[in-house]
This record gives sequence, structure tokens and C-alpha cells, in this order.
Amino acid sequence: MSEIQEVTETEQEIVATNSQTAPLTAGDRCDSCGAQAYVRATLVFGELLFCLHHATLNKEALAANTVHWHDESDKLLAR
Ligand SMILES: [Zn+2]
Repeated sequence: MSEIQEVTETEQEIVATNSQTAPLTAGDRCDSCGAQAYVRATLVFGELLFCLHHATLNKEALAANTVHWHDESDKLLAR
């Protein structure tokens, strides 16, 4: 009698996904100007935070290297 043990990477994927989609806080600052960040760009070479202004400016230029684009700009519209 033999048991086949399945090894999945599900747990690892969940951790990675959580860090990409974790909510931004008031302490998160735009890497360009220091204003409050509303966008987290997860790139193939690292991570950048942007205010809405710099997110708009950089989104197209970074698109080819973007793994995940976490946009909380709707928070600005909701208040
Ligand atoms: Zn900025």
C-alpha cells in the first residue's frame, strides 16, 4: 500500500498574493514625492509606492515590468 503525497505551492502563493494586495496605510509614502501612497506597483525587480499623480505618470512606463498593480485610488473618491 502506498500513499501519494501531493506537494503544492499553494501556501507560498497565498503569502505572495497577500503582500501584493495588503491595504496601503497612511504611513505608506510615494517613492517620488513623499505624498500618501494610493498605489503599490509590484515589479519584477522590486516594489514601488506611488501617490495617484505619480502612479498615473509612471504606469505606462512600468507596464512591461509590472507583476501586480494595486490601486486604492477609489479611497480618494469615497471620502
Ligand atoms: Zn508622488
